[in-house]
Amino acid sequence: MRTGTNLPAIGGYNQAVVLDAIRRASDGLSRVELAERTGLSAQTIGNVSRRLLDEGLVRETGKVVNGPGKPRTILQLEGRGSYAVGVHIDPAVITYVVLDLRGSVVSHSRTRTPSAKRPAEVIELMARSISHLIDDSGVDRSLVLGVGIASPGPIDAGAGTVLDPPMLPMWKNVPLRAALSEATGLPVLLEKDVTAAAVAELWFSRENERQNFAFVYYGTGFGTGLVLNREAVRGSTANAGDAGHITVDPAGAVCVCGRAGCVGDLITPRSLVQQAIAAQVLPPLEPDADDPTDMAAISRAFQRLAESAGTGQPAAQLILREAGLHLARAVVVLVNLLDLDEIVFGGPFWDEIGDALLAVLPTAVETDPALIPTHSLLFDRSSIGEDVAAVGAACLVLDYAFSPRPSAMLISV
Ligand SMILES: [Zn+2]
Repeated sequence: MRTGTNLPAIGGYNQAVVLDAIRRASDGLSRVELAERTGLSAQTIGNVSRRLLDEGLVRETGKVVNGPGKPRTILQLEGRGSYAVGVHIDPAVITYVVLDLRGSVVSHSRTRTPSAKRPAEVIELMARSISHLIDDSGVDRSLVLGVGIASPGPIDAGAGTVLDPPMLPMWKNVPLRAALSEATGLPVLLEKDVTAAAVAELWFSRENERQNFAFVYYGTGFGTGLVLNREAVRGSTANAGDAGHITVDPAGAVCVCGRAGCVGDLITPRSLVQQAIAAQVLPPLEPDADDPTDMAAISRAFQRLAESAGTGQPAAQLILREAGLHLARAVVVLVNLLDLDEIVFGGPFWDEIGDALLAVLPTAVETDPALIPTHSLLFDRSSIGEDVAAVGAACLVLDYAFSPRPSAMLISV
């Protein structure tokens, strides 16, 4: 359930039902098929399709001869009929994308997160960046449905606030949704970054794929987005998926929570960089006066660690191998808990170390005596890449606009 948004649906209830059916069929649908799938009468389908064609939301593509009778015209989404903006706030980078109605990325940009700045200043910067991106993409601003934000948790989805994310020390109870909506003049929707990433994977998969999976999100922090039976799992306050305090090494360093060896503490880029400095794989970090969280320095050092491992430096390789084994133990807990059949890996820092971790992780999971389900498991990389959370945030806007909701019946035909 998504609550507390001011985002309108596209048209009325029947229109949303028809658009949703067309979007789910990647090759489009004929009017006859639409009537079958939606349960709406042929006359209603005819009226709704005409309106969708007039509004530029769908187009007719070719005719197919399908058995006896006259050929059928196929209706497909018109990508350029509407757009959505997605923004992902990571403590290191802010990513922006514009998606068209079919989910294609029309343009994207990225800025460093000014962590020394107050949230109000960052929101102003975000509004300006969104405006530039829309202008640069050549998209008519009136066709932009809204802005989806993927934010580090915890969030208050109802109030649209970012509560107290770790690694963003100045962000406490920030009314992000309302402030960004005011600054951009667009409807805004707020979702936890890991859930947004999982939603993006759903959007770009076929109906028989990505059924029950965890999206292991490897950014500045570690989190998971959960999908069961092709529905994102949000929980009672939209904060589901916080797996960081799963113990994976009882003899490991003590986490901020007071326990030893929490996965979210051991495998973050910051932690791996610290391990590399301790093992003299990397020199100590040079402090940066403009960046109290040191994220830019961590990001550069993390890249050097990955490069050292890639060139065969044994101590660097050992650090990444251990990270893979630690992550495997957490994955076993998730698979057991939710009977998952797939783990998808991604996020802004994943690409650099993904190969090294996946060299050990699948076997470690499958041979772990604690693993309960006996079915096969699939270990896959995100099909979307490092923009996945921003893309997911934009998908949520499209999702919301497409969703047939009872409230829309009030303005239906
Ligand atoms: Zn912990």
